[in-house]
Amino acid sequence: MALNLANTSLFRQDAFIDGTWRPALDGARRPVHNPATGALVAQVAECGTPDVTHAIAAAITAQAEWRNRTGAQRQVILTRWHDLVMDSLDDLATLIVTEQGKPRAEAAGEIRYAASFLLWFAAEAMRAYGDIIPPTNPATRLSVIRQPVGVCAAITPWNFPAAMITRKAGPALAAGCAMIVKPSEETPLTALALAELARQAGVPAGLLQVLPGDGVTLGKALCASPDIRKLSFTGSTQVGRILMAQSAPTLKRLSLELGGNAPLIVFDDAHIEQAIKSTIAAKFRNAGQTCVCANRILVQDGIYDEFATRFARVVAKLRVGPGSNPDAAIGPLISTQARDKVEEHVRDAVAHGAGILCGGARDAAGDLFYQPTVLQDVTPAMRVAREETFGPVAPLLRFHTEAEAIAMANDTEYGLAAYFFTRDHARAHRVAEALEYGMVGHNTGLISNEVAPFGGIKQSGMGREGSRYGIDEYLNMKYICTDIT
Ligand code: ADP
Repeated sequence: MALNLANTSLFRQDAFIDGTWRPALDGARRPVHNPATGALVAQVAECGTPDVTHAIAAAITAQAEWRNRTGAQRQVILTRWHDLVMDSLDDLATLIVTEQGKPRAEAAGEIRYAASFLLWFAAEAMRAYGDIIPPTNPATRLSVIRQPVGVCAAITPWNFPAAMITRKAGPALAAGCAMIVKPSEETPLTALALAELARQAGVPAGLLQVLPGDGVTLGKALCASPDIRKLSFTGSTQVGRILMAQSAPTLKRLSLELGGNAPLIVFDDAHIEQAIKSTIAAKFRNAGQTCVCANRILVQDGIYDEFATRFARVVAKLRVGPGSNPDAAIGPLISTQARDKVEEHVRDAVAHGAGILCGGARDAAGDLFYQPTVLQDVTPAMRVAREETFGPVAPLLRFHTEAEAIAMANDTEYGLAAYFFTRDHARAHRVAEALEYGMVGHNTGLISNEVAPFGGIKQSGMGREGSRYGIDEYLNMKYICTDIT
């Protein structure tokens, strides 16, 4: 189980509750495996409902004190947390590679991205401005202040084990809230390491807690509590719906970052080199396991054949291997279920007439590795075009007109990210406005950063993370009307 970390205090197998490391109250543990090798990495505390009860009590106490600190005081601690995360970049990247599988350079990139939210929201802690409203009656004064929502919970996925936590905990703490994190069963180690760094940074006991455990059990316990005033979830649309229903009795505030089915449109007038390079970035990051990964690549008639041939040539050269191998561009999938779904999507597409330009099979690197794959002649009815594949498979669909491309792109229940490539300025405006998505990339496949609002519409969820809007999710507006006579 030994992991090669410079700072061994970052390898934690207990839960982090009320400022201390402790096993689950019933002593339960759950194994964590390395998806590249299947090796056992850790036996992590499996928290249950009584642990949640304990954590909520600690969070209430911690938040009552933290909410009264100034923005500047919160900023200092969040900045220190950011600095410690950056100082621990190598160790945190090792934890991500080990439990999640992505290539090391991507894991290091994720840590920088994760840290950026702490620095951004450290500064935003100083800027939770209110408003003065000109009154309708000269005898009154109207103002709006913004106050922390209270104790919050986050349920996070395995594909970004660090960033999905800081993107929620950063704004929560900046706003004056407490945060209880339930990390993914697959990737608790990175979350626990972040908690240790928060402790070292001076985050008070109980303010940030990490409770690994089963999603269904802990999700129910967190939703049922009226003391949890807000839930922020990143994961599948299906689980988002369950959490929304479970939050109805207590009318919790919700942020839901759910699934996507991102279209990527290449028009005839696109810069083809740029489109190919960006499509690789948008499709194959994290072996295709991100909610903003291009899931359908729509290519216009006039450029389709050339794009397909040249794109497949580049994809065929992407190296498959464990994330610890410096040459690897495509790591393992997270689980056998994830791999089976990818296989099923390819099988279904081929059965319905799609052709394989490269890949199309498991890779010899190991049980959970799948070759980067390009499919041509894909139609909108195929599963690979209707469902989120979450794997290294690029389906190419053909379209003729701009109107057809927009109709195809919007023909999904999802609305997270979309991308398009064109050098025509007027078309760029038309298409960007017509796409029913929360985020649009024009001539780029990488759009996410801490200063821009991340989030979806339709069944991709609600709420925005990052940017100056992100802290709003953790603040309540209070209107105060004063009679001055
Ligand atoms: P993914 O497909 O990315 O694994 P999930 O939505 O299944 O997405 O999981 C994301 C997070 O949601 C994980 O932390 C998981 O434990 C949690 N989870 C899964 N099912 C439920 C549930 N019924 N209630 C609450 N959380 C859940």
